[in-house]
Amino acid sequence: MDKNQFYHIFADVFKKNNLQIYVKDEIVEKFFLLTELMLQTNTVMNITALTTLEKIIPLHYADCVIPASYVKEGAAVLDVGCGGGFPILPLAIVRPDLHLTGLDSTEKKIRYVQSTANELGLPIQTIHGRAEEIAHDWIHRETYDVVISRAVARLNMLNELCLPFLKPGGTFWAMKGAAGKEEQTEAADGCPKLGGKMGPYIEYPLHLLDGSEQRTMICIDKIAHTPPTYPRSFGAIKKKPLS
Ligand code: SAH
Repeated sequence: MDKNQFYHIFADVFKKNNLQIYVKDEIVEKFFLLTELMLQTNTVMNITALTTLEKIIPLHYADCVIPASYVKEGAAVLDVGCGGGFPILPLAIVRPDLHLTGLDSTEKKIRYVQSTANELGLPIQTIHGRAEEIAHDWIHRETYDVVISRAVARLNMLNELCLPFLKPGGTFWAMKGAAGKEEQTEAADGCPKLGGKMGPYIEYPLHLLDGSEQRTMICIDKIAHTPPTYPRSFGAIKKKPLS
């Protein structure tokens, strides 16, 4: 991979998305290293379907850096279903003030994310486990200021997996695509049962090298404790999402 080419595509995409504050040598260098490690690992483990810089930089990096401006300074943040490190690794690169934890049920992905963070000098923590089980562990239940999640489940299921981790007063950011509004409507009635309240809904374009795609961030505020019965087993959540 050519460093110059990487820098140019990165600068181009980040500027198009109003993220020029992140076009700094020390940041671009970390994203370059992340790309090398990710593509290397991708030959032996399924981390990402995207393999060209023209796709990885907008669809993984810019996509995951856009939410950074919504997370308050110094927050304890949990990424539920972080998979191959999104959004946790880009967030860790651009927001060193955050206390980031990644959770995923696939052990090899969690091991990859932790070792990649170590190589990049990013002080994140990782947990291997299922959200619906870990959320009943008092060490993690209602201890985070912010929960964030991308591409894990529809919102009416995701709320039950994510809201129990938040302290009352905390915020859940669900990163969604064009169908975000529809998912928000579908999840609205279940939300208060988990101590949540639908907050602002943000729609914006994610600019690619050519063209753009619609993105949505759905904000859910945690306004009360989650009753101890939630989350239910994954089977129960899937069979009958809260409504
Ligand atoms: N957030 C990443 C990965 C999305 S793929 C990205 O945007 O690229 C969905 C991930 O969620 C997978 O890695 C899967 O292992 C994880 N996952 C799905 N259900 C889960 C659950 N109940 N608890 C923890 N992780 C879960």
